[in-house]
Amino acid sequence: MNYTDRVTRVEPSATLAVSSLASRLEADGVDVVDLSVGEPDFDTPDHIKEAGRDAITRGETSYAPSTGIPSLRAAIAEDLQTDGLAYESENVMVTPGAKQALFEVVHTVVEDGDEVVLLDPSWVSYAAMAKIAGAELTRVDLSETDFQLEPVLDELGGALSKDTELLIVNSPNNPSGAVYSKAALEGVRDLAVEYDITVISDEIYRDIRYSGDHISLGSLPGMAERTVTVNGFSKANAMTGWRLGYFAGPTGLIEQAGKIQSHSVSSAATFVQHAGLAALDGPTAPTQRMVEAFEERRDLLLDGFEAHGIDIPTPNGAFYMMLPVAADDETWCTNALEEAHVATVPGSAFGAPGYARLSYAADSERLRDAVNRLGDAGFLD
Ligand code: PMP
Ligand code: GLU
Repeated sequence: MNYTDRVTRVEPSATLAVSSLASRLEADGVDVVDLSVGEPDFDTPDHIKEAGRDAITRGETSYAPSTGIPSLRAAIAEDLQTDGLAYESENVMVTPGAKQALFEVVHTVVEDGDEVVLLDPSWVSYAAMAKIAGAELTRVDLSETDFQLEPVLDELGGALSKDTELLIVNSPNNPSGAVYSKAALEGVRDLAVEYDITVISDEIYRDIRYSGDHISLGSLPGMAERTVTVNGFSKANAMTGWRLGYFAGPTGLIEQAGKIQSHSVSSAATFVQHAGLAALDGPTAPTQRMVEAFEERRDLLLDGFEAHGIDIPTPNGAFYMMLPVAADDETWCTNALEEAHVATVPGSAFGAPGYARLSYAADSERLRDAVNRLGDAGFLD
């Protein structure tokens, strides 16, 4: 069989690949501390599960409108309005996961040969999606500035041109945990307007922040018509396996991208959308409890690494941090998994060689264990 250039030019998702390797080792009886995949270790809150079960019992099991059930689109628009985004239902497309949302948007705005700009470190799938769409990638490095965007706005300006089609911004950030400052986002706005480019603002970690307010890029003056806001239910509501996300943007984009959705996945699962509605309408306490737990774990890891003389810029959101490791981060990660039985993802997968990404969505005992194992086996020297 012949395979297309499109598909052979990308690798499988590194995050999912390491996590399945860790699961295989565990199935062989090895006790692995798995800090690889970015998935809350909490169960989906009860009120959401109940809404999902009720929806199945009511018979919400047939096709949904491709763009999403009206009540969920309306609730999402209302939620986004609280961030200062002037979206209505018709600006919202409900998708089976934020990953699918990103995939559809990238394929709707990126032509073969178009330039896509990423801020590295950047989540693994951005580069892959852009490459599948035939994009040329330009990458701006934030690893020398404690992963902050503001100090590299000049470099970003230098990287953009009239040929740039798309810039992807992700704050709070996977994999660094950085939250970009207002000045940084305003700088992005100025550049996006100057070069007339589309910006995807991936805000999937919006509700997992440890300080400060969230600023939604699309709410800044001049950004509404060029921003696509992506979010989903996986992280803040511990719903990774339900597969529910969305994007919001100009109605023309919804119409065009809607063709990809209607010819591929059709829609997100109907009863899952009803569960999503409960997540938006229900109590926020379960999310707050998760965020408090993540913050404690973040501090535990930062202290643990500091005791080994390793300073990591404090992540202000999401549940990841970048641990500086050997220049050959892939070998470091493989050895850390095989010898210390701690699973992490090589920074190179995120465009940041020399680091390992740690997801601290694991309980405190396991995190302590991870630092001890890495320390005892000489991986933190
Ligand atoms: N964006 C970022 C930055 C992520 O870390 C993830 C993680 N899965 C996604 C999008 C996709 O999330 P999902 O498809 O589970 O909604
Ligand atoms: N986004 C998570 C991560 O980065 C989940 C895995 C994935 O979808 O790639 O680990």
